[in-house]
Order: sequence, then C-alpha cells, then structure tokens
Amino acid sequence: MTFIDSHAHIYSEQFKQDRDEALARAMGEGVEKIYMPNIDHTSIEVMLETEARHPNQCIAMMGLHPTSVNKDFEKELYLVEEWLGKRKFAAVGECGIDLYWDKTFLPQQQEALKVQVELARKHQLPIVLHTRDSFDETYEIISAAQDGSLKGVFHCFSGTVEQAAKVKQLGFLMGIGGVATFKNGGLDKVLPHVSLDDLVLETDCPYLAPVPHRGKRNEPVYLPLVARRVAELLQKPVEEVAEITTRNALNLFKL
Ligand SMILES: [Zn+2]
Repeated sequence: MTFIDSHAHIYSEQFKQDRDEALARAMGEGVEKIYMPNIDHTSIEVMLETEARHPNQCIAMMGLHPTSVNKDFEKELYLVEEWLGKRKFAAVGECGIDLYWDKTFLPQQQEALKVQVELARKHQLPIVLHTRDSFDETYEIISAAQDGSLKGVFHCFSGTVEQAAKVKQLGFLMGIGGVATFKNGGLDKVLPHVSLDDLVLETDCPYLAPVPHRGKRNEPVYLPLVARRVAELLQKPVEEVAEITTRNALNLFKL
C-alpha cells in the first residue's frame, strides 16, 4: 500500500535531529509523498531545503498561516506572492482562520485569507485551509469566492455532518488526521456519513499524533494508523482507503 501525507510540517525544528530517518521510516511504510504547508517567512528556507534534499518525497506549498497574521501581515503576504511568482508550488497554504488562541487579529486574518484565495485563483493552485474554531468564518469567505474555479482541502477537518456536507458542496476535500483516532475526537460520528472520494489523509506532524502515540511527536510513518481508523469507520478495506485517498491527493495537488 502507498499513502500520501497531504499535510506535514516535516521541516520543523522537532525533526532537526532525525529528519532523514523519519522520512526513510515513512517511505518504508509506503508514505511516498509528503506535502509541506508553509507557516511564514521563518519556515520558507528550511522547508525548501527539505524539499531539495528529498525532491521525490517532499513537496512544498506556499502561504501564510493564520497564527502568523498580525499587524505586519502585509509584508508576509508580499513574500508569499513573490515566491508564488518565482517557482512552482503544490498549493497555497496553509492559510485560513484560527480563533483558538487569539481573536485580536480576526479582521487581518480574514483579509489575509481573501488575498491568498485570489493568489490561488491567479496561479490555479489548490488552497489548504486551516479552520481551527473558525469553520463558519472560513466557509463564509471561501463560499463567497467560489466561482467553480477554486479547489482545496479543509485540513484537520473535525466538524459536524452538516459541515462535511458544506465542504463537499463547495467542491473541497476534507483532510483527516490523528483526531480520527481520538476517543473524544468526534469524527466517529461524522466519517460514517462521508464518501472516501471527499477525503485525503494527513498527519499535521509534529502535532496530533494518532493513538497509540497521542501526545508524543507525530511523524508521517504514523499515517497508516489514520488510514486504518478511517477504514474502520467507513467499513472499507484499508487498501481501498489508501488507494482512493492517494488518488484524491494527486488529483488535488497535481505536482
Ligand atoms: Zn499545519
């Protein structure tokens, strides 16, 4: 079986000591492609270095993470725009809205998301959305901008059956990760009602390690644990989950 990790911060500091080994471990379990969402100006260099060192396995996106949106967000967005004009990326991301930590910069987060949606449209790239405690706020912006040309993924989807239907209606996918394995994650009530065609798998490493590694550093080698849980909830063979989510990810990202 082969898998695609559609969302992994494998370039992060937490992998400084053993990144090559973590990537080799992932490859050994069939995690052949890993898409890397950018955070802000501090993550670009190490992300692109990781991609250059592992060009067949690691593929970069370009965007500004909502928790890095503050009063200087315009400067950050210029950098994103500049990079998108310079070379190919798999997607614009991760972008979106995060109301979990801080609501101070909500208007700036909304503005930054709108700008990045237009960049995605201009460069004909998918959008990777972060929607922590902000499904409605993010959905409002994406649905207003959707003219049929936008596609993307609601990364780390952990919403309701109704919200899953709204994502589908938008023509977007849901990124499913370690939360699916959590007892209190809520996805056991949602996933039985969705189609495999609407899902991609992700780790969001180094965060959100699936059970039985919950609370520890997450890494792409754990992606098959997520696939197994999704298979169980959808009552499908894990081989089918691997195959269809891989196809969905390749269709979405193209690169
Ligand atoms: Zn992320």
